[in-house]
Amino acid sequence: MPPSFGQHRIYYNNFAAHLLNAYNPNMFYPDLPYRWSDTDWCHCLDMIAEFGFTTFQYWLEPRLFCREGLASAVGHEFTRQLGVITEHAHRRGLRVHGLCSLATVGAHWHTLCPNVPAEWDEIRFLWDAWSRRLAGQDVFGIGPGDPGACSRHGCTALTFIDQSIAIANLIRRNCPRAAIELNTWGPPIFGWGTLQGPPGWQGEFVAQYQHTAWTFDRRRAEEAMTHLVKRLPDFPPGTLISQNMGFNPDGNPAGEQDARSWVREIAKTNPVCTWDFSLTEGENNVVPHWRFDRLFQRRREERDVGAYSGGICFSMTPLLNPLSLYLSAQSFLRPDAEPESVAAEFCVRLYGPEGARLVPYLKLFEVVKDWGNYIDILLSRKDYHERLRELVTLLHDLRPTLREDAVLHPPPAAWHAELRFFAELCRDLSGPAPDYPALRQRYWNRVYAIYDRLPAHVDPRPHQATDNLIAAFQPENWRGQPRHAIPGKWTS
Ligand SMILES: [Zn+2]
Repeated sequence: MPPSFGQHRIYYNNFAAHLLNAYNPNMFYPDLPYRWSDTDWCHCLDMIAEFGFTTFQYWLEPRLFCREGLASAVGHEFTRQLGVITEHAHRRGLRVHGLCSLATVGAHWHTLCPNVPAEWDEIRFLWDAWSRRLAGQDVFGIGPGDPGACSRHGCTALTFIDQSIAIANLIRRNCPRAAIELNTWGPPIFGWGTLQGPPGWQGEFVAQYQHTAWTFDRRRAEEAMTHLVKRLPDFPPGTLISQNMGFNPDGNPAGEQDARSWVREIAKTNPVCTWDFSLTEGENNVVPHWRFDRLFQRRREERDVGAYSGGICFSMTPLLNPLSLYLSAQSFLRPDAEPESVAAEFCVRLYGPEGARLVPYLKLFEVVKDWGNYIDILLSRKDYHERLRELVTLLHDLRPTLREDAVLHPPPAAWHAELRFFAELCRDLSGPAPDYPALRQRYWNRVYAIYDRLPAHVDPRPHQATDNLIAAFQPENWRGQPRHAIPGKWTS
């Protein structure tokens, strides 16, 4: 039976500790800001359901996927709140889908080796314990890594596939009603057999080597996908496979990295979704996003493959980017729509008819050419500044008509205040003589201040991302002409 395109519309909120910011729930530090109450979560799920999503997905990150995470107060509170989330999601007709790396554990993202018996025992112990704890969950996703992956002791992409079958069957014994997802993220199967490390490497996360996980090798890709197809019958029936159109970070089906024939092959027996992380936000570029031309075009391409049942829409900033989430859900339901019209619907719902005037301005926040940002702002810095002055005035005028009855999390007034903050910031950054250090601090305090109160994380990207945003506005960096998007994370 041919799949129904867009049947699985998955809201993927990654709230891992390295993606903390003012617009993402803080699930790990009870004494620090950005905590979400149970009520906040229920409001968010109400919004997600209203927008047209069918599934809520999160990442059970390595900080939790370890013995410390299981035993800690944070781990118990996480389990409790996930229970509340799952119950409310079910009331709203949403499925709950937890994704977890097969073998990456602990706050320092250490990857255990399935070919070392004691480490394999530990992997099985953790999957057993967490699947019992999260038994109400609808889908258990098994991912290869990012971060993580093993190349030690002969591990390859085939090891990941084979050991995922063992884990899938273990989960099925604990949770007979749950579905399994196997995620092939990467070129494919991120880093298994290819991730490099320093001399004496024992599986610890080393940022400087992460890019080696993206090394593409046609023969490796074919071997991995052939093995996956051969072993599909050994997964529990109905196992969902996440496979992008291309074996690269942007999921672009170019040349030897075109994965579409594999998608069609897998879809003969199993549902297939995309897990295209590049479409909506990139990572750590925290601004109000507008990447919708590419998003809708990608949906049409996915539909044309004739084998996809849906896919994810990623966010690490749900409180800032509800517009992006609305368009993401709708892109599955009406891939042929004009993004501007769908965005206008959203703005009119919040502000009344005058809201549509916002639409032409909303792409102006996409100044940083990061992962997945294919938008070019072709304005001189001076013209850009004038446009931002107009936007600030417009946001000021729209205030009185804001509709507080819209189903939005945060409430409409709070989202409006964030738009004003970013409009004023970008106006000031593009002015004739900005005080860049002061504006950097203004942004940091609004978005990332939580990191001032945390120990250094293994991933330092919040600071880099803030520097990139400020630098993009400096006259010597302002180009006003087309540029390439960077090819993905862990690259430059
Ligand atoms: Zn290994």
